[in-house]
Amino acid sequence: MTRAPALFVGHGSPMNAIEDNEFTTKWIELGNILPRPEAILSVSAHWFTKGTWIGDSERPKQIYDMYGFPEELYQLKYPAIGNRALAHSVIQKITTSIEVDNSWGLDHGTWSVLCRMYPMADIPVVQLSIDGTASSEDHFQMGRELADLRDEGIMILGSGNIVHDLARIDWNMESGFPYAEEFDNYIKDAILEGKYEKAVQYQEAGPSAKLAFRTPEHYDPLLYVLGAADVTDRVSVFNDACVMGSISMTGYAFYK
Ligand code: ZN
Repeated sequence: MTRAPALFVGHGSPMNAIEDNEFTTKWIELGNILPRPEAILSVSAHWFTKGTWIGDSERPKQIYDMYGFPEELYQLKYPAIGNRALAHSVIQKITTSIEVDNSWGLDHGTWSVLCRMYPMADIPVVQLSIDGTASSEDHFQMGRELADLRDEGIMILGSGNIVHDLARIDWNMESGFPYAEEFDNYIKDAILEGKYEKAVQYQEAGPSAKLAFRTPEHYDPLLYVLGAADVTDRVSVFNDACVMGSISMTGYAFYK
């Protein structure tokens, strides 16, 4: 079996589920060119919790955890099944405490990306929450503990944004503020050099790190993906851009 990819996607606006643009074109392409996984373990920015939780339902519910968007978005169905065995395999592998919670399901961080990559919804998806009380090192370590799942054909998907500050968004701006570009490039250089620890210790980027995000939930999914990656992977940078001043859309695919 081909080792499944570890993939970080900058998801941006939920509208990317239904709008066609340069970013979603790339997501569609990735779904076509990456080795097809047996199942997907998704770490979404939008399930930010106290403690770590996982859904083990064979029929995870799709949740519409965003407000003020067109009705079309709330009508979008992504009926992927779950995978109880995978969820319990994750519980076994992660050495910190983790519990089952099926009240959440699949949120838009997961389905807005997967509905473009795998529009048939024919790959099982399990979602893992992000413990807001855990450190960057803890998130990276959990990614490490999950890395072997890739050999079982499980894609580790992180869905967030490396720079994410809704309060600073400038709707008229096509690129990023200088600090946003600087931080995005700092992380990109670290990843391309194989120095993942620099992404874990991102504060050492200096002032740009203080401005990149106010809360880390959109950044943390990257740390799981980097934990699940290793230097023997090929790495592909895609959608390498900041938009609207304070959002990075940059993504990374690690694959054999
Ligand atoms: Zn988001």
